[in-house]
Amino acid sequence: MNEIKSRIFELRKIINNHNHNYYDLDKNLISDFEYDKLLNELVKLESKHPEFYDENSPSNRVGGGLSDKFNSESHVFQMYSLDNTYSSEELESWYTRVVKILNTDNFEFCCELKYDGASVNLMYEDGKLLRALTRGDGTQGDNITNNIKTIRSVPIKLNNNIINKFEIRGEIIIRNDSFKKLNRKREKLGEPLFKNPRNTASGSIKLLDSDEVARRPLECFLYSIVSDEVKIKNHSELLSVARKMGFDVPKYERVVDGLNGVRDYIDFWDKNRSSLPFEIDGIVIKINNIDFQKKLGFTSKFPRWAIAYKYKAENLATKLNSISFNVGRTGAITPVANLKPVLISGSTVKRASLHSFDQMMKLRLRVNDRVYVEKGGEIIPKITGIDYNNRGFENDEIKFPTNCPECGTKLEKLDSEANFYCANTKGCRPQVIGRIQHFVSRKAMNIEGLGDETIKLLYNKGYLRNISDIYNLDYNSISLIEGHADKSVDNLKMGIEDSKSKPFQKVLYGLGIRYVGESASKKILKKIKSIDELMLMDLESLSEIDEIGEKTAYSITEFFKDEENRNLIDKLKLAGLVFINNNKDNTSSSLSNLTFVISGVFDIHSRDEIKDLIEINGGKISSSVSSNTNYLVAGNNLGPAKYAKANDLGVPIINEMSLIDLIS
Ligand code: AMP
Repeated sequence: MNEIKSRIFELRKIINNHNHNYYDLDKNLISDFEYDKLLNELVKLESKHPEFYDENSPSNRVGGGLSDKFNSESHVFQMYSLDNTYSSEELESWYTRVVKILNTDNFEFCCELKYDGASVNLMYEDGKLLRALTRGDGTQGDNITNNIKTIRSVPIKLNNNIINKFEIRGEIIIRNDSFKKLNRKREKLGEPLFKNPRNTASGSIKLLDSDEVARRPLECFLYSIVSDEVKIKNHSELLSVARKMGFDVPKYERVVDGLNGVRDYIDFWDKNRSSLPFEIDGIVIKINNIDFQKKLGFTSKFPRWAIAYKYKAENLATKLNSISFNVGRTGAITPVANLKPVLISGSTVKRASLHSFDQMMKLRLRVNDRVYVEKGGEIIPKITGIDYNNRGFENDEIKFPTNCPECGTKLEKLDSEANFYCANTKGCRPQVIGRIQHFVSRKAMNIEGLGDETIKLLYNKGYLRNISDIYNLDYNSISLIEGHADKSVDNLKMGIEDSKSKPFQKVLYGLGIRYVGESASKKILKKIKSIDELMLMDLESLSEIDEIGEKTAYSITEFFKDEENRNLIDKLKLAGLVFINNNKDNTSSSLSNLTFVISGVFDIHSRDEIKDLIEINGGKISSSVSSNTNYLVAGNNLGPAKYAKANDLGVPIINEMSLIDLIS
């Protein structure tokens, strides 16, 4: 036992040291992988030995505790917004006002970057993080302490406690490369992509599940300290103090003398901001002397001693080379502009979205048009207009195709839809591939070993032509395909076998019937016992199902009218897939009226599967432990705070096997 205790203490020390090296000293002494390994070991030991629980353990940054819903609390010092300007003239008027109030022009400015994220206010006392609030309305903010504790660069305990009691303000951000990585991961898992780092950061800190927050690559950049205790003369010195205490204060600030110095800083970052590893939406100019700041004071909304100079969203002109027409899984045709590559906000843009047929028609684009492209935070840039002085030839106006660019079928358009469709659902290559990819995707059958590229490859080789072919693959031939060694074929076999026991709801969603998404398939399953019952339903009875409108009902009846689709269902039944709604039989109500919280990683099931198991059997899932929780279902790496709360409230903690017992 003593050995375990000393290993826990040792791991905490090593990890704290790495955090200090990485965040305070910019020294990265181990790889992320090695770091995560240490952290995982600690989390595992701590969850097995809760007697050594310590709220200040670095493992608390892996997630854990969360409040039922955020409490609003008052800021000790009001959090103001910043007055802002986009023009040099307004900046000059601000300067003139400041000179007038101070009655001197003998002062310095501290110029900083304006980080584009979500503001946060951290309160420290005796070297410990007491609470973290959002800006809220400036006087009150949401208490998001549990979420902020998951951010590794926010010290929970200070190494160097220079000021005893203070508030420190900052911005929660996500670096560009972490954002791309996060989205690549989501793409692989078939999850919807995030739009931009800013929204993702501000959305993440408001999540109720701090385990999920811990999975988001959040960072906290600090930019000001507020305290009654400090006797420091300049804002720039305060920033140095913050760094010494262990906070992440990016080193981009410059102290300059006159307005010309401010202009140089603005111009420099206007040209160079695209090379920054994170997003900014301008710069902040502050009067450096704190006595002068006090003299200038605040309006009801802004400090008079600071102003933000904002940059306009980058909007550049480039040449339109052509337009491609993409065919999606449902046959919808979307126009995509192919552009002469142009560097916008740090990345090379080659394509831009035109969203729909309607929008394309509005612009009446011609080949060689000079078009304005804006990257306003969205991942896919958009065309915002045309330079009418530099147009392509009238004859080169780009027409929307009348036939499918992939299979040549005549396109159709319903008045109620913004897009044209290719109705050749069975024979149009991208539609067929897209449907198989959808069936296999994580939210549907979640077949491991069958990624998007493998599906394309197997389609091209003629092995996969529809969903049912998945269950008749010739594994010997696949193992001969380059890059598909025995191991990956074994994985594929296992993934496919596993999928045969996936619940009916996943199968129904996986079929890809237009408008039958995850939520619609859940609603349908509440009403029916089997696919046979669904196939017999008419428009009227389908429309009676909660949330199933006429359009969806029509799409379902059309799907089952089609003989090929009915054959497909027969083949899938033969392969052994589940087409019976188990939860309508005897298991549906075994967990009704019970609320579960899930935490940790499980040996047999994935978290999603545990969730499904509970829901299918009538139980409810909640993200936080409260007096309403009936069970905490715990896997490995159980969040310590959840564990503590469940213990406090006397909520029974069960493992996955006990959950299955409970169900049966
Ligand atoms: P706004 O939200 O446009 O009113 O701008 C004010 C916000 O800018 C503050 O609440 C901060 O969250 C944010 N901000 C980002 N960087 C800085 C910085 N260096 N100094 C002060 N505020 C900043």
